[in-house]
Amino acid sequence: MKTLARALAGVALLFATAAFAQQTPPSAAMPKTDPGRESFRALYKELVETNTTASVGSCTLAAERMAAHLKAAGFPDSDLTIFSVPEYPKNGGLVAVLPGKDPKAKAVLMLAHLDVVEAKREDWTRDPFTLVEEGGYFYARGSSDDKAQAAIWVDNLVRYKTEGFKPRRTIKMALTCGEEGGGPFNGASWLVKNRKDLIDAEFALNEGAGGQLDDHGKRMAHTIEAGEKTSQSFTLEVTNPGGHSSRPVPDNAIYRLADALEKIRAYEFPVMINDANRAYLSGMAKIEGGARGQAMTALVANPKDAQADALLSKDPGLHTMLRTTCVATMLSGGHAQNALPQRATANINCRIFPGVSRDEVRNKLMEVIGDPQVQVSQVRVAREGEAPAPPLTPQVMGPIEKVSAEMWPGIPVIPILQAGATDGKALTAGGIPTYGVSGLFFEPDLGRIHGLNERIGVQSLYEGREFLYRLVKLYADQPGA
Ligand SMILES: [Zn+2]
Repeated sequence: MKTLARALAGVALLFATAAFAQQTPPSAAMPKTDPGRESFRALYKELVETNTTASVGSCTLAAERMAAHLKAAGFPDSDLTIFSVPEYPKNGGLVAVLPGKDPKAKAVLMLAHLDVVEAKREDWTRDPFTLVEEGGYFYARGSSDDKAQAAIWVDNLVRYKTEGFKPRRTIKMALTCGEEGGGPFNGASWLVKNRKDLIDAEFALNEGAGGQLDDHGKRMAHTIEAGEKTSQSFTLEVTNPGGHSSRPVPDNAIYRLADALEKIRAYEFPVMINDANRAYLSGMAKIEGGARGQAMTALVANPKDAQADALLSKDPGLHTMLRTTCVATMLSGGHAQNALPQRATANINCRIFPGVSRDEVRNKLMEVIGDPQVQVSQVRVAREGEAPAPPLTPQVMGPIEKVSAEMWPGIPVIPILQAGATDGKALTAGGIPTYGVSGLFFEPDLGRIHGLNERIGVQSLYEGREFLYRLVKLYADQPGA
């Protein structure tokens, strides 16, 4: 029965990946037989189906379940640390260590977050907390962000241990909670501040970049994060004496707020070019060519080229990589149907370009609004620490380019400025340079992360697994590490 089931599963898998593969040719470097693939898929399924939302989930439970896989693979308790704080028992995490042979060599850290963004069953086509494999994709909340990489990291350690791999450097893994900002506790920041000894490393690998597919599933580039924007929210607040709604007056808190939002909506921060987006635009200009390629080259040469900016900014991914952005994400106002509103507030989430301060952005918002009755205040800083982007040294880039060329020959490795924010910021600021690298290829919709019906290509997941397995091994045995 088991063998028949296994054969049937194999055929189903074949069909599923076939759908994805029709568009994206499989990597020729994938091992012909992969005995560990089924146990990886089971581990990934277990992790995805462990609800880790801030509202009802438990990262601590997910961490315990992943630790159980490591124990079963032979990790002693002394190399596994489940951590949490009394105030937030469900926001815990796991640090695991595979000791290296060379005590002088500094460790390499694999970082991933366990928590996921909320998801409502009624909004999704399928249950967001059940892993569904369909049409060449895995569907579920966290299937991409970030349980693909978290599961691959755990699986890496299981494989290395099972193979008896004795690395030169110590290999560490940290699975943390709170990256999505759903709760008050951020595990990565806490580890940096309170248990840096556990995670200390020469550098860390994290989410934040991956392979880029075009609309037809063609591999365009393999991006590596070379910096990220800062996420910072601001509250706009208007108060008003209010009154009876049967006697409306021109000055109304909701209308005043709406006017302010209109102005923010119409305002565009100026184009800025730094090493990260210059490298990306220059690299993609060669790949894409055509009008977009020319515009990329033109904008790098002259950031004030409005025509080039207008053409490229039609693409939300490029628009946000070129500047600071601020957008309204939440709104509330009024206290009764039959009363004039006394208070109206909105949340503006900004993604700040590296090198621009939070205060500069707040001042710009106040200037654009131009209404002293609209209070602009900074929301609690989710992730402490500001740090320049970690340098893309040959020691870091060399192995990435080597394994990427093995897996996807001819696909250029290109640095990218990440518009989203990750926990890498806290670690880099804490002295552990953190690089966004995953080997996971995504379509232009980025796997619909944070949105409805999040998914990842089945083939993309398995190839990313092979890429990261080889990459971390290379780093761990790097000479002179
Ligand atoms: Zn994430």
